[in-house]
Amino acid sequence: MSSTDSETTDSATPLDFIRDIVTSDIRAGKDAGRVHTRFPPEPNGYLHIGHAKSICLNFGVAREFGGRCNLRLDDTNPAKEDTEYVDAIQRDVRWLGFEWSALFYASDYFELMYQYAEQLIRDGKAYVDSLNADEMREHRGTLTEPGRNSPYRDRTTEENLDLFRRMRAGEYPDGTHVLRARIDMASPNINMRDPTLYRIRHDDHHRTGNAWCIYPSYDYAHPISDALEGITHSLCTLEFEDHRPLYDWCVENVRARAAELTSRPRQIEFARLNLNYTVMSKRKLLTLVEQQLVNGWDDPRMPTIAGLRRRGYTPEAIRDFCSRIGVAKKENVIDVALLEHTVREDLNRRAQRALAVLRPLKVVIENYPEGRVEQLNATNNPEDASAGTRSIPFSRELHIEREDFMEEPPKKFFRLSPGTEVRLRYAYILKCERVVKDTAGAVVELRCTYDPESLSGSTAGRRVKGTIHWVSATHARDAEVRLYDRLFLSEDPGEGGRDPLVDLNPTSLERLISVKVEPALADADAGTRFQFERQGYFCVDPDSRPEAPVFNRTVTLKDGWARIAGRK
Ligand code: ATP
Ligand code: MG
Repeated sequence: MSSTDSETTDSATPLDFIRDIVTSDIRAGKDAGRVHTRFPPEPNGYLHIGHAKSICLNFGVAREFGGRCNLRLDDTNPAKEDTEYVDAIQRDVRWLGFEWSALFYASDYFELMYQYAEQLIRDGKAYVDSLNADEMREHRGTLTEPGRNSPYRDRTTEENLDLFRRMRAGEYPDGTHVLRARIDMASPNINMRDPTLYRIRHDDHHRTGNAWCIYPSYDYAHPISDALEGITHSLCTLEFEDHRPLYDWCVENVRARAAELTSRPRQIEFARLNLNYTVMSKRKLLTLVEQQLVNGWDDPRMPTIAGLRRRGYTPEAIRDFCSRIGVAKKENVIDVALLEHTVREDLNRRAQRALAVLRPLKVVIENYPEGRVEQLNATNNPEDASAGTRSIPFSRELHIEREDFMEEPPKKFFRLSPGTEVRLRYAYILKCERVVKDTAGAVVELRCTYDPESLSGSTAGRRVKGTIHWVSATHARDAEVRLYDRLFLSEDPGEGGRDPLVDLNPTSLERLISVKVEPALADADAGTRFQFERQGYFCVDPDSRPEAPVFNRTVTLKDGWARIAGRK
């Protein structure tokens, strides 16, 4: 999708090929006009921004067409799954603003799936194969050569049933037998060459414990789960396109014998979300967590929903992003700058403004009376009049940003230098008179004067070119600020099959520990978002305590996307 398309689809729901299909299915009276989708994550990791695309699509379609959307935990692979992930998935879907019509687990259907598999055996449509993994691969053939039948393919129904039941009973070790669909070893589609339906896995399952030691494959479990739940449109990513004939095979052959399966779900594939500078497979994200290259799944540098939340992203911004990227059939790579642009726009509308000095330099105003404090009026949000104003204390000693002072400024430096003037935001015009240095020659303090007639908003009307932010030194509270940069230096981490970890950005986290913030900020609750004027958008971290507040920088004020979009 080009940038111009995405700019025009801002908040209205874009029509896409999936919504077109749903619309015509309803018109044709398919499934009696019902629309039922599902979001089916495997609980083997936290949800990421790619999942958000699928969530917005599945829940969005259901909502728009008056249908239903289930949350289904696709827990057919016990080794990697965990209740921590189950809980995180539910929390993140809700936080994004969606509520499921029903919550299911694929493991709810293990007994039914098993019974259906026995029926497939009785129908001559499945058999127990006892080739080992290497032999199976060797029999499978290649894209250009047909496969060969396994010598076990023609076992009798009785023998198959007996072996399958003993597989279930736990008589065999992992890898000794599998149940396979009996389809066609010469099919041009490799997925149809007698795919595996069940494998033996002696592993504890996070829900079913040790009740099972055989587990269904994704290709078998998914269509049956869909059919059992009455799903009408089963939306998945493009890599499953070649699996669709198998999906349909499972639905048809199981339905033929199961009266309770009234619906015939249809699989529709769409392009997954790819973001530059980002890895998005749960396996790779798990590596980052396990090797402690980040501080957990919710590290603000992670592309997980939990990470984005901790970073300060709003659910609205993520939904808006998903709406802008749209849904299409062709793979592409979205610029992460668009994600940043989206949250910046949202926060610009709603984040309260505040003053914070990240790298402080002390200022003493020599002609301001000692002990005097003024409460000055500051605008909370120029984009939102209803946000009102607040008071900020002004006194003789201030902190300003170190980089707002230069002893020997270049020509167009409109901030502070010896002998020049600058406006203090919401306050007075300040003039730098003298510089105080330490023994090493570093500037440690500025001696200044102020113009008492120049209060911001007064009618005196004297103008100076630059305006800088500040905090009152006696009133400011100390804080920590965490600045984040991209986690990866490469646009395509791990490109060409190399280890993505070699592309890690070694300086993706910078901690500033002597930040000065206006007093009210220290008591803000975790998750509160601010614009620190001239610095960017920040969010109170859950590590924050009133005596030691911590802020995460969500995004800078400078908009990389506007520049990119303008160039296109
Ligand atoms: P990963 O490769 O990150 O582990 P996955 O596909 O294995 O992802 P699932 O938990 O199986 O993860 O995914 C749940 C749903 O989310 C699936 O329907 C899947 O197609 C969808 N999904 C996963 N990643 C993306 C993505 N990058 N863009 C869009 N949809 C995605
Ligand atoms: Mg998957």
